This record gives sequence, structure tokens and C-alpha cells, in this order.
Amino acid sequence: MMKNILFLLLAIITLACTASEKVQPESEKSTNIIFLIGDGMGLSAVSTGFYFGDQPSVFKRFYEIGLQQTSSATHKVTDSAASGTALATGKKTYNGAIGVDTTKTSIQNIAELVASMGWSTGVVATSTISHATPASFYAHVELRSMEDEIAAQLLASEIDFFAGGGRDKFNMRKDSSDLLLLAADKGFIIDTTGLPTPGTLSGDQKYGFLPEPGSMPPMIHGRGDFLPEATTLAISHLSQNQEGFFLMVEGSQIDWAGHANDSEYLVSEMLDFEKVIAAALDFAEKDENTLVVVTADHETGGFTLGPKTGATDESGYSDYSAIEPVFATGSHSATLIPVFAFGPGAGEFKGIYQNTDIFHKMAALVQGE
Ligand code: MG
Ligand code: ZN
Repeated sequence: MMKNILFLLLAIITLACTASEKVQPESEKSTNIIFLIGDGMGLSAVSTGFYFGDQPSVFKRFYEIGLQQTSSATHKVTDSAASGTALATGKKTYNGAIGVDTTKTSIQNIAELVASMGWSTGVVATSTISHATPASFYAHVELRSMEDEIAAQLLASEIDFFAGGGRDKFNMRKDSSDLLLLAADKGFIIDTTGLPTPGTLSGDQKYGFLPEPGSMPPMIHGRGDFLPEATTLAISHLSQNQEGFFLMVEGSQIDWAGHANDSEYLVSEMLDFEKVIAAALDFAEKDENTLVVVTADHETGGFTLGPKTGATDESGYSDYSAIEPVFATGSHSATLIPVFAFGPGAGEFKGIYQNTDIFHKMAALVQGE
């Protein structure tokens, strides 16, 4: 009798193993990563779409949500260079550092890691493409202000696709060299006019799109759909690589609106960034093999959605019927930052952790740990 039960158990275990082996081939393919960073996007910025949007907030499409702490190695309140480097490399560093640790030694970032595995990589932003956040994913310099050097490092990097502002950092440089003329030697086709239709880019070619000399214009000054369109173009280009791809897209100017304490600017940048998130999620839902992670590098402005100040209703109670966006500071803040994840590995992003853990979670996923 005992022998029979043991045999039965063994048979069940064997069957169970065979069953799990059968689903293996699907998960053997690398999981693409689309990493979306709203610079300065705290929880109140995330909340704006719930009150000021004309359609349901895109954040409602996420079910795996966590919180991250953003402090740098040197300061409780981080800057975008140290936090960008923490997210990109998994190491806390000093405020102002791009891709280097506290001893100013270069550290490998997630884009370099996956490029070494044969993946394609891209960065998209509405700041100059050599600005701190995108730079953290391809450059290694002691100070974020070294944008001419950062631009040169971009063309020498493994990045296959970039789009953003900052053409002047390539062809109006202090050293008066024209990097756009050298870009072809580095394997890039550079377009300074705008974005082409998705599907028209060659899979074995690198591309850079630099439609503006400085930053891209704010939404309230007519940027239009540059950021969602550049995101869609990047995904369509990078996803031609069957090995996998990594794409970082930054909603750069949410931060600038926070510094300016300008709520109209902030809401318009958030609604634009929501379109980017929607484009990434639409792709990931169809693809079923793409992780989408949305977070910020830190909060900016101490932004919150207060009630209209001083207003009372007929009965003398505070009138909470209308929202008045308010700011507590013109600087960054140290508040915890939400992390939203969708796709394979998304469950790993639940909980409360350091910004550096986001790199480690992504690296573990791509390395199959
Ligand atoms: Mg930034
Ligand atoms: Zn800032």
C-alpha cells in the first residue's frame, strides 16, 4: 500500500515537472523593458489626470505598484543626475554625477548591460538629449553640466535610437567641432527636421532625431505629440531586434513646471506623459513579453492638490468642492515616489525600496535570475 502511494506521488511529481517544462520555451525569450521616467513626478502629479484629464487616468491600467526612496549618496534631497544614475546603474552617487560613483569611477548602466547581450537600446526626452536623466543611460562624466562631452559620448555609445532636444550640443559647441558631420562614421543617421512615420526605419541602422537647437518646447507652447510619437517610433524601430530592446523615455519638463510652480504647465506635461505611458502599455499588452516600469527620479515643487483657499460653503464649512494646485517649494523634495509596473516581472516592483533597487530588479529580470 505504502509503496503504491509513493509510486503515485512520484508519478504526480513527474507529471507536474513535465507540465512546467512545457511552458518554458515561451519565457526563454528575453523580456523587453520600456522604462518611463517622469522627472519630478510625485504622487500629486500622478493624480492630476484623475481631476484634470478628459479620459480615465492611464495609471489605472497598473496593478503592480510600489514606492521608492530617492535620496542620493550625499544628500537627502537628490538632484536628477544622482537619481538618474541610481536608476540606470543601481549605485547611489553624489548630486551632479552622471554614470559615475562617489569615487568618480564609471559604472555600467542597464542600457550598456543589455547592449552587451545583443539588445537594441534607445533614449527619448523633451529636454536636451544630453540632459542629466537621459545622459545617465549612456554617459559617464563627473558633472551633469558637461553637456558637450555628454553629447560626444552619446554618438560613441551603444545607443541605437535617440530623440529629443539639444542639437546645439552637437553642432554649436565650445570646441567648434560639428559632431553631426561625424555621426555617420559612428553609424548614425541624424535627422534635424522632425520624426518620420513608424515602420520606415531600417533595423540595422542607428538613428538620432534632433529637431530643436535647445530643449523641446513645453506643451503649453505647442510641442504637440512629439513625445508620444517619438516613443512609438522608438518602439517600432527597436522591436525589430529579436534579441530584445531597452527604451528609456523621459517626461523631462514635469520637473521644470514644478520648479516654476506653474500648475498649468505641470498638468499639460503630465497629460502628455500619460499618452507616452498609454503607447508603451498598448505595445506591451499586444507583445506580452515587455515589462513597462513608470516612475520618477524625485518629486519637484512639493506639489499638492489643495482645496480652494479660504472658501466656505453656505453652512460655513470649508468648501472642498474645487481643487487649487499648490506648491511648497521651488526645489526638489524627498517624498517617496510611486513605481508602476506592467508585464513579465512586474510583481517584483511591489513594496518599498531604494531607487537603486529598480536597476537591480531590471538586471535580475534580463539576466534570468
Ligand atoms: Mg530630467
Ligand atoms: Zn529639477
